[in-house]
Amino acid sequence: MKRIVIIGGGIAGLSAGIFAQKNGFNTVILEKHHTLGGECTGWDRQGYHIDGCIHWLVGTKEATGSRELWDTVGALKDVEIHHPDSFMAVEHEGVTVHFYRDLGRLKSSWMEISPEDRDAIEEFCKDIKRLHKFSLPVEKPMDLMNVIEKIKYVLSMKEVGPIMQKYDKISVKELSEKFQHPALKEAVASFMPEGDYSASSVIFPLGTFTGDQSSIPRGGSKALAMRMVEKYRSLGGTVEASSEVMEIKIEGNNVQGVYCTNGKSYEADYVIAACDPKAVFDVLLKGKYHDPEFQKRYNDPKNYPLASNIYVAIGYQGTMDDIPQTLRFPVSSLEINQNGKPVEHLQMTHYGYEPDFAPKGHTAITFAVNQFQPELSQWEALVKDREAYKKEKERIGKEVIRAMEIRFPFMTGKLHVLDVATPQTYNRYCNAYRGAFMGFWPTLSGKSMAHTGKIKGLDNFLLSGQWLQPPGGLPVALITGKDTIMRLCKMEKQSFIGV
Ligand SMILES: Cc1cc2nc3c(=O)[nH]c(=O)nc-3n(C[C@H](O)[C@H](O)[C@H](O)COP(=O)(O)OP(=O)(O)OC[C@H]3O[C@@H](n4cnc5c(N)ncnc54)[C@H](O)[C@@H]3O)c2cc1C
Repeated sequence: MKRIVIIGGGIAGLSAGIFAQKNGFNTVILEKHHTLGGECTGWDRQGYHIDGCIHWLVGTKEATGSRELWDTVGALKDVEIHHPDSFMAVEHEGVTVHFYRDLGRLKSSWMEISPEDRDAIEEFCKDIKRLHKFSLPVEKPMDLMNVIEKIKYVLSMKEVGPIMQKYDKISVKELSEKFQHPALKEAVASFMPEGDYSASSVIFPLGTFTGDQSSIPRGGSKALAMRMVEKYRSLGGTVEASSEVMEIKIEGNNVQGVYCTNGKSYEADYVIAACDPKAVFDVLLKGKYHDPEFQKRYNDPKNYPLASNIYVAIGYQGTMDDIPQTLRFPVSSLEINQNGKPVEHLQMTHYGYEPDFAPKGHTAITFAVNQFQPELSQWEALVKDREAYKKEKERIGKEVIRAMEIRFPFMTGKLHVLDVATPQTYNRYCNAYRGAFMGFWPTLSGKSMAHTGKIKGLDNFLLSGQWLQPPGGLPVALITGKDTIMRLCKMEKQSFIGV
């Protein structure tokens, strides 16, 4: 039985482990953190549970290929799904714009806000609806398809392909400017920060959300990851937590195994690196191997941006009742920077639908503030002074509470900070380069094709994970984990056992 060492116990590493075990390999997952799940995680503070990941998960719809894949890895099997009725609500100058799941309701509420935008609203809704036919391609990666499969794939994209292309060519800002009403403009623009981000980042989430393909599994992110760990173990897989790989043992073109910082080493017939590729190239492979595709992306952060987060968790001694689950509201004079300027909006998500996430009658709330350059470099510098870093986190927590109390005066005195994670937190726990929580974000000029994970000069080493395919996220982690094992089965000349 061939032995595979998998570096990283995030969703991609777990997916690779599960499919490898199903296909008769002997595997071990080495994870640097003491727990598994990677960025798909959650943690407890002061009687609350802070969910650190899932706001929407593509693949929750029954009888779809992606749902079948999630079920196969044990992530969603027999799990209740929460279907929020709105993706997000955006407040602007006294008007609230809702991105309702029900497209008819979205359309009529937008028409009510701005009848003069009828044509733009109709076109937007029609295009979103056309995406309801989209299903995430989960069967095989392109590089393993034969000609007939490729033709079938192209034909299957006949309906949705032109829509994706249309929105790939325009920026989020250009899309927002199709609307005349300032609140609609602001709502559409709010999907991405300022910059050349392609409008597919707006249309794709709304297509899957209004087409009922994306929702939220009850129990949250950590529970989802733990179900996958259980599945992996039930198939005979071994987990070694608190085992950070620091070097890969190589002879000629052959990877022989890995060395960990805890002094242990593992022999392998194959090594799969299901972790951030930047650390793989720079640290584990000691800068001796290069990949032109990744180099292009890392050398051009403007067109291939990586985003991180400040993630603030707040406990509220009360219930949120009629407040939208995800709400973006304007703030003024808030001293938190984004893209070199003070943030002008905060986006909050509350977990009122998960009573177990908070003490009775209380609610857990999280805020994600995206961080880019120059903030990422500032965080890198600040973390070196632990006291100053801690103070900055405390200050940010207080700033968020101040903004909440201005927006929701009835909450005054009832809010307290549970935790503040920064880009350095993602870096420290997951080795995430620049604290990235997704793959490279899609821009107008930064188009990237799916990567096969193969590195020139290494015969039995494969990369896996969210960075291989834009835009990243949990479904990409799941699919690339499976695809890596499909490639490996091909290398072993054995047929692949899937679901
Ligand atoms: C706040 C937030 C919200 C998000 N919301 C969503 C959402 O709503 N929907 C969605 O689809 N996605 C969401 N994501 C993104 C999602 O979490 C990631 O895309 C996904 O978890 C990436 O999985 P991965 O396995 O590819 O990588 P990771 O989760 O980064 O896993 C890599 C693993 O490798 C380990 N590792 C790294 N280096 C080493 C080493 N040298 N040795 C051993 N182990 C190592 C790390 O500790 C980690 O566990 C969100 C992320 C964040 C942070």
